[in-house]
Amino acid sequence: MSTNTKFIYPRILLKISGEVLQGVNKFGIDINSLKKIAEEIKLVLNIGVQVGLVIGSGNLFRGSTLSEVGINRIASDHIGILSTIINSLAMHDIMHNSSIRSHVMSAIPINGICEAYNYRRAMQLLCNNAVVIFSAGIGNPLFTTDSAACLRGIETQSNIILKGTKVDGVYSKDPQKYDHVIFYKKLTYKDVLKKELKVMDLSAFSLARDHGLPIRVFNINKPKSLYRIVMGHDEGTIITS
Ligand code: UDP
Repeated sequence: MSTNTKFIYPRILLKISGEVLQGVNKFGIDINSLKKIAEEIKLVLNIGVQVGLVIGSGNLFRGSTLSEVGINRIASDHIGILSTIINSLAMHDIMHNSSIRSHVMSAIPINGICEAYNYRRAMQLLCNNAVVIFSAGIGNPLFTTDSAACLRGIETQSNIILKGTKVDGVYSKDPQKYDHVIFYKKLTYKDVLKKELKVMDLSAFSLARDHGLPIRVFNINKPKSLYRIVMGHDEGTIITS
């Protein structure tokens, strides 16, 4: 760890959408994408930033999609929750191969596979510069991993939620579907609600807003973007009060 390097966020909660893990594929886990993310995380760990991690499961199963094809919504969400554990275990293993100390905690007990979430232990691990991967969302159906990111971010007194996606930040409309879209560099919580921008679902967003936790949406596929953010560079979209 270099003590000379000045970072602006001592502790971050990084949320990665499941879609980032599938790389160019339509489903599943792409090992190269996992390796790239591990290297991005390593860059910030090496300068002393503490990292909590939440991984979605859009690359495997989302409750809303499964319920559309005829599986009961609650069972669908349980499948989504289990999928986040699968992604977290894969990430954990890749991090281990890259000599990154990390631990998977689950919001639901999964004996023999990973440890159950424990606030005090999570804090201890973070303080010792181990990455804590918070899996299984908040452990309840009808929520998303964005809610888990905000919840764990607040609990662990993280300085910011960094939402790593495949797009560069927040746009007025989906840039992959529409022309003439506006890219926002800076927004307030109020702007997001007024303009009905899709940053994260409302329960997650309200939690962050009510606790004054800043959110930055950025493209995790851009090399060194995470590093630049913790060093105070402008990357993606920042949302604050
Ligand atoms: N999920 C849930 N409760 C939680 C977190 C997740 O029920 O606390 C389920 C839900 O079905 C969701 C899926 O897990 O669709 C995957 O999470 P998410 O949609 O947030 O993944 P992402 O879009 O970030 O890849």
